[in-house]
Amino acid sequence: MARRNTNTPMMRQYLALKAQAGEALVLFRLGDFYELFLEDAEVAAPLLDLVLTTRDKDAPSPVPMCGIPWHAAEGYIRRLLDAGHAVALAEQVEDPRQARGLVRREIVEITTPGLIATSERLAGAGANYLAAVVSAEGGAVGLAYADISTGEYAATESDDPSVIAAELDRLAPRELVARDAEKRLPAGLPVRRLPDADFDPARVLERAGRLPHGLGAGERGPAARAAAAIWSTVAALQPLALEQLHGLRRYATDDRLILDAATRRHLELFANLRDGGREGTLIGAIDRTRTPMGRRRLAHWIGQPLTDPAAIAERQDMVASWLEPDSRRRALAEALRGVGDVERGAVRCCLPTSGPRELTALRAALYGLERVSQSAPLADPCTDLLQELERVLVDDPPAPPRGEPYIAYVREAADAEVDRIRRESEEGNRFLETLEVRERERTGIPSLRVRYNRLFGYSIEVTRSHLAKVPDHYERKQTTPRGERFTTAELRDWEGRVLRARQLAAAAEGRVLDALRERVRAESARLRVAAAELAELDVAQSLAGIARERDYVRPEIDRSLVIEVGAGRHAVVELFTPEGFVPNDVLLDPERQQLLILTGPNMAGKSTLLRQVALIVVLAQAGSFVPARRARIGVTDRIFTRVGASDSLTTGESTFMVEMRETATILREATSRSLVLLDEIGRGTSTFDGLSIAWAVAEHLHDAPGLRPRALFATHYHELADLARTKSRVRNFHFACAERDHELLFLRRMEPGAASRSYGIEVARRAGLPPEVVRRASEVLGNLEGGEFDERGRPRLARELDGQAPEQLALFNPPSDSLREALRGVDTDAMTPLEALVELDRLRKLAREDG
Ligand code: ADP
Repeated sequence: MARRNTNTPMMRQYLALKAQAGEALVLFRLGDFYELFLEDAEVAAPLLDLVLTTRDKDAPSPVPMCGIPWHAAEGYIRRLLDAGHAVALAEQVEDPRQARGLVRREIVEITTPGLIATSERLAGAGANYLAAVVSAEGGAVGLAYADISTGEYAATESDDPSVIAAELDRLAPRELVARDAEKRLPAGLPVRRLPDADFDPARVLERAGRLPHGLGAGERGPAARAAAAIWSTVAALQPLALEQLHGLRRYATDDRLILDAATRRHLELFANLRDGGREGTLIGAIDRTRTPMGRRRLAHWIGQPLTDPAAIAERQDMVASWLEPDSRRRALAEALRGVGDVERGAVRCCLPTSGPRELTALRAALYGLERVSQSAPLADPCTDLLQELERVLVDDPPAPPRGEPYIAYVREAADAEVDRIRRESEEGNRFLETLEVRERERTGIPSLRVRYNRLFGYSIEVTRSHLAKVPDHYERKQTTPRGERFTTAELRDWEGRVLRARQLAAAAEGRVLDALRERVRAESARLRVAAAELAELDVAQSLAGIARERDYVRPEIDRSLVIEVGAGRHAVVELFTPEGFVPNDVLLDPERQQLLILTGPNMAGKSTLLRQVALIVVLAQAGSFVPARRARIGVTDRIFTRVGASDSLTTGESTFMVEMRETATILREATSRSLVLLDEIGRGTSTFDGLSIAWAVAEHLHDAPGLRPRALFATHYHELADLARTKSRVRNFHFACAERDHELLFLRRMEPGAASRSYGIEVARRAGLPPEVVRRASEVLGNLEGGEFDERGRPRLARELDGQAPEQLALFNPPSDSLREALRGVDTDAMTPLEALVELDRLRKLAREDG
């Protein structure tokens, strides 16, 4: 490629800034635009639907560029961040009017997808995390994350990489920080690779000047190293945001119910399988929160349920306290609605870029807080702060004028100096108004106007048709399309005074706002406490409202290993089942009833039941009430699911491979506290393969020493029901069906015992399969059933595990037997003599073919 013509002073300045910005796209401020140049322009233009242009069209190899208007920049920046790019703002740091030569520019901030502080750039109310992972020698993994828009900053570690993987999945960070050498990172995330030094608290301290509370320079553990990398990244890219990261919170993963990525997906906790949306998800079904803090908190509760019965009971108490009366809960919900995002609002006010808009938003939030405190006593509703904001800020601050110093935000009588300067500038404004009237009269030009223009200041405008009447002492300034602009000595004098006063006013207001911002900053710890309290109140009223309306019950939580649900329902499906959801009882008990095998035809309700049990456990351990008449939950450490068939298109693995991989994880990692759901395992391969694998997996869950998790096994392999003959803690259940008016009726009732084997054939008959096919299917079924047990009465399929070769089960007779088969199929009772003759002829032909 020909060398681009970059040897101009401005391009040299640009390239120096670009070198500082690293891989971030540089938005280069040029007057009212941000410009992108060279490769950055080529990357950004298609993403932003902009046209690539060039400054020097005639040069041999022009510099490609594209520009975005400064006042609309936020939308564009957000799109670049959404696409996974980092964005560096190179601002003019001196007034272009005063600059001699090239205006000085500096990179004032680098925003990356994981480091976003302002709402315009955030995708929604959800958390926006930057996460760091580090695998230590010996297998332990550290994880840290931060959201600079709320100040959340936390770290954990585990010896089990799958636990950290599950945490990462729960957090769904926008961006990841990892060492150069780090392997096995989740796909599809922007990754920021850093040298090892950034993962060493001591080295990070040297560079950043300080470390957060809760992180010591001498620490070497994986959590500390991950936390150091976050601190280092924020220090390098957005040093001002360090102040928002209140102390590092360390947490343990073993006091949480672990839900890995597959399980969260299968249970549709936050995203549905259909399109990844919220409809049909657990969170969608139970979220009645009214504030962004509440919404984030509820997601946290559901995504990371607890395992300590006492801690769970505390949450349950909180929910219980808002059950009744309805009017009190509704009043709280109504008050919460007006609060907005106190958490992010407080952080935003502390940023140097914050202005009157941010402060006004915080004031509105504090009004909300005051209203909430009338329904629910808050420890500290921050009333004094509200009063101060109220005293200083006008009710409706005007939108900031473009490129002008801001004025008119400070309330009358809030600040003596602001008042004084304002009076002076008002005097000037009044004079300019009278000047217009006076000059019209003097000159006899009715359309004469005194106008202000940002670039040219004040002038007297006269339209072309009246130019002849302009007096001599008017000095011509410029020509406009409609006439001419003039000034006079007197106007220049007043103009100077007005502009000076305006600048003074702006400076004075700026000082007042700075003081206010400083006050907010000083009180930000109190605001955070209030925001946390609001978040919990919001979650409590939301869960209480759902519990009341849908008849949820408070589950008993203990450290037993029993899960017992009486008349349980599926929290989501019941909302979409207008004919009425049929509740079911489930008991899982490792001593007596550890493994339930659920058989029954398709669409009977097996998958729904499996998920229903898991959702009840999730809700219960999150602190919510549950959709059941009664429930007792022995705390679960982890829920494993192997559900349905889903090809992993991104990794190019076959359904069966994915299925086996997930099954392997379950067998490797489950404990006696785990809940395991297996739905149609072994479906992606041949029948006998699949059945054999399903059988062996079930046996392993039952027999393996130290494993014995509580498990639900839904299957269309009726043969699995035979497990109960030899395995003492296996119980069979099936879904009852009935026939009415020749229709198969699903009763949705789970009952003890295996399903009758002929349901599938029955369904096939109802569906209109030809009678002879149905008849033949019954026959084959009979064959299979006949061969089911060996001479010692044991299921044939189990024999392989005894070390004996299994006897081949013949699904179809070999061809030489087709004649016998055909003969057996002849129904002489139902034949006329003529039909018998025809049949005899057919059989003779068949015998000839076989021979
Ligand atoms: P299976 O796994 O046996 O094929 P599903 O669990 O997918 O069947 O259930 C099929 C449909 O039946 C569900 O989508 C739901 O609409 C309905 N259903 C399932 N369980 C119940 C129930 N207990 N009460 C009412 N409808 C149910």
